[in-house]
Amino acid sequence: MDLVIVGCQAGDEGKGKITDLVSEGAYAVVRYQAGPNTGHTVVADGGEHRFVQVPAGVLRGAVGVLGGGCVVDPRSLLTELADLRDGGLDIDLRISESAHVIFPYHIAQDIAQDDWRGAELATSAATGFADGTGRIGTTRRGVGPCREDKVARIGLRLVDLLDADLLAARLSRIVPLKRALLERVFGRPDGAEPVTAEVDRLVEEYGAAGRALEPYLCDTSTWLRRARAEGKYLVYEGSQSFGLDLEQGTYPYVTSGFTGAAGVTVGTGTSPAQRFTVLGVAKAYMVQVGGGPLVGELTGATAEHLVSRGREWGTVTGRRRRVGWFDAPMVRRAIAVEGITELVLTNLDVLAGLDEVQVITGYRVGGRTVDAYPVRLRDAAAATPVLERLPGWPEQDWTEVAHRGAAALPAAARRYIDRLAALLDVEIIAAGVGPDRRDTVPLSETSLLSEK
Ligand code: GDP
Repeated sequence: MDLVIVGCQAGDEGKGKITDLVSEGAYAVVRYQAGPNTGHTVVADGGEHRFVQVPAGVLRGAVGVLGGGCVVDPRSLLTELADLRDGGLDIDLRISESAHVIFPYHIAQDIAQDDWRGAELATSAATGFADGTGRIGTTRRGVGPCREDKVARIGLRLVDLLDADLLAARLSRIVPLKRALLERVFGRPDGAEPVTAEVDRLVEEYGAAGRALEPYLCDTSTWLRRARAEGKYLVYEGSQSFGLDLEQGTYPYVTSGFTGAAGVTVGTGTSPAQRFTVLGVAKAYMVQVGGGPLVGELTGATAEHLVSRGREWGTVTGRRRRVGWFDAPMVRRAIAVEGITELVLTNLDVLAGLDEVQVITGYRVGGRTVDAYPVRLRDAAAATPVLERLPGWPEQDWTEVAHRGAAALPAAARRYIDRLAALLDVEIIAAGVGPDRRDTVPLSETSLLSEK
């Protein structure tokens, strides 16, 4: 079986824990896009494991695979591997030799460009968003500019790091270009190091990193095809989510890659004729990092409740996340586009202790009520949510609830789940009630999770 995990909102749904659960017995867990800009946290066996570029499924002993759609920061990947090994994890990894490499100039460009874009968006139609800067809020890890270079055909791939002559020749052309961009366009002087010295330094440093990663490099497309031919169970770990997809998400507040299930075929070299099963993950409320639209954004005591109980700050950036009520039309679109047949609803425990909970069932835009998410940014910023109110549920011993199963869920929580399932037209197969992998309540006896 080929199982794809897709987040249905704007990231941070808790995909790490679900990937970990479905990875039991998997032969390989594959990342098909993203890079050092994403992170998963898995709490298991009394420890908290943070993954950035390495697929979270390696915790279950599966082979970790980074497909060609990923971009790799070789230096931070080597550090992450060393840290995971120090933590006692024995990691087997395959990395596509054609994955593109993030260089320091990509990171400098990312920072300069995000500031420029912030000023541009803040003065355009996109005003009205909560952070006031209009910034996309990139993680500033160089991912977007690295992909820009890939599309411009001036990027360097991991395999290129193993050819010092090619690397020197290409960097001798690219470094002056990037310097001109940073200095003359963005007004960011980049130190006094001569270009030739910078090129020599990069060739040395990145050549060494390439050699250190060489044992992991292979043609991952062929590797995966063989594994599939042998009938192996493969999991494709979505990092980032539907709302951040370059094509389907809330453009321009998106990432630079294809985060949805369609990204699997592009990012791993797998035929779309292949049969995939897509498992969705959604949080019981909405979360947004950085700028961008969040209809019905919550403030005050309810927001504080969700942020503090849900520990709503980023794994990679440490930024506080913005929160809102569950946006049913937005998630419904993700489910339809991605072909999701089963959904896991996480963080149900975080809503506990509120007198009532609410769900967005539509939007009021310019005097009209609509049930599809607005395409125009100005409309999304100005939209007011149409809300349905439901009774809240009290705090519980959630580990005990998870232990006893679905029957132990508070009646109001169960009603909330059932209402969402009806609004979304999908089966909700499990509820997350805590960060630990054990804190998951199966709601169906014949689901992708229970078959694991
Ligand atoms: P993603 O990979 O971006 O989707 O998010 P992560 O897997 O990193 O999860 C975000 C955070 O939520 C982590 O700290 C998880 O441990 C935590 N988490 C996951 N599921 C639940 C849940 O059901 N309840 C609570 N309270 N926390 C959860």
